[in-house]
Amino acid sequence: MIKTKLVWFRNDLRVNDNEPLLSAVNRSEQVIPIYIFDSRHFLTTQYGFRKTGTFRAKFLIECVENLRQNLKALGGNLIVRMGLPEQIIPQICLEYQVTSVYFNRETAPEEMEVERLVEKELLKLDVNWRDTYTSTLLKKSELPFSIPRLPDVFTAFKTKVEHNCIIETPLPSPEKINVPANLDAGVMPSLSQLNNTSFNVDARRAFHFKGGETEALQRLHTYLWERDALKTYFETRNGLVGEDYSTKLSPYLALGCISPRTIHAQVKRYEAERVKNKSTYWLIFELLWRDFFRFTMEKHKNNAFKQQGFNNASTPKPLVSDKALLQKWIDGQTGVRFVDANMNELRLSGYLSNRGRQNVASYLVNDLNVNWMMGADYFESQLIDYDVYSNYGNWAYVAGVGNDPRTNRYFNIEKQAVMYDPQGAYQTLWLN
Ligand SMILES: Cc1cc2nc3c(=O)[nH]c(=O)nc-3n(C[C@H](O)[C@H](O)[C@H](O)COP(=O)(O)OP(=O)(O)OC[C@H]3O[C@@H](n4cnc5c(N)ncnc54)[C@H](O)[C@@H]3O)c2cc1C
Repeated sequence: MIKTKLVWFRNDLRVNDNEPLLSAVNRSEQVIPIYIFDSRHFLTTQYGFRKTGTFRAKFLIECVENLRQNLKALGGNLIVRMGLPEQIIPQICLEYQVTSVYFNRETAPEEMEVERLVEKELLKLDVNWRDTYTSTLLKKSELPFSIPRLPDVFTAFKTKVEHNCIIETPLPSPEKINVPANLDAGVMPSLSQLNNTSFNVDARRAFHFKGGETEALQRLHTYLWERDALKTYFETRNGLVGEDYSTKLSPYLALGCISPRTIHAQVKRYEAERVKNKSTYWLIFELLWRDFFRFTMEKHKNNAFKQQGFNNASTPKPLVSDKALLQKWIDGQTGVRFVDANMNELRLSGYLSNRGRQNVASYLVNDLNVNWMMGADYFESQLIDYDVYSNYGNWAYVAGVGNDPRTNRYFNIEKQAVMYDPQGAYQTLWLN
């Protein structure tokens, strides 16, 4: 009997540096790559938003389409289904006599629950699974501390890992993929099937995001090698207008179209061939923040989703779950120009600069005294680069209940506007 392994793609929508894919291809005669649009991801959130808003839904479709094309270019294909992984994966295993399932593990509660349900069904069928954990820059197994002993303060984490961890080089893409001849690949869902809304993006958007590994690699190439923008990243990263003040790689990282190790390897090459400076260091520094929030969620589990945070801290002032105030903030109707401009950009384009995110989050919590979980919930729906770890980690941080030794991280919005938008160009752009 031909040995068949199933590769379950999740937030790792790429063929390069993809350990489950490469291991499955190397260990079997044929593989079945599958992506499942989990119907739970398209329901409504705790506070009534679409869990996956239009910007991310469209981007996700593009990523999956591109993955299918890239797998086809290697001789393979991608099965696409919509529904529940714990029902669909066992069906496919039975249909194609799969002996084991390969996938990347997540460490957020909802994602882990899906893994548990899938594994329960696989046990019944006597199908093995092989899980890896490769969404971070650092290898979890090589951290100089166990997850329960992970420092809660970023600087302590960074100092230890910078001294003790080696970042591995990315894995190559498989050379060839064999899939069963009778593979029923299925059709891609349309945006209206997933989301039931039409797509409109504002012409003022900072970047034209198109999903997929091909676009991700192209963006990395453009930013580093064509625009040579990395050498000034440290100075430009707090920018608000334009393509190149930051990398714009976040949506690709969130869905795994590119791995952090691939970015790291290119930064090292850039340092060797162009320049090594504070900016090149800083991009890796930001990727360490991304890792840090991932490991933090694994450590604190469901407590990361509590209003008082994982430290049971109290916010400087009591917060209210006021929907009317929240809506004003969402609609860019607070009357504070800098906040409104940023909220308009987020609502109309699905993306927002890091400086903008910090300001609007602080304003919601510290000035409007609204429950930060409502803001995080809206970001979950609206951001094209939503990532459960970075979103909830950053929100808790700004709200003073997360990984921050300072409990009151108050942003003086007027001062921030003067510092980061001195001529008011950004506010003019998004308030008209
Ligand atoms: C309230 C709030 C919510 C956020 N929600 C998300 C989210 O859902 N998804 C997300 O990817 N980022 C989130 N961020 C972090 C950050 O704003 C974005 O990663 C960044 O703006 C994305 O643009 P870029 O790729 O051009 O970033 P760059 O400045 O080019 O950074 C490169 C990469 O480093 C990582 N990174 C940078 N800053 C951070 C940070 N503060 N925390 C974690 N990783 C970071 C990202 O993966 C980013 O793509 C949030 C920040 C705040 C303050």
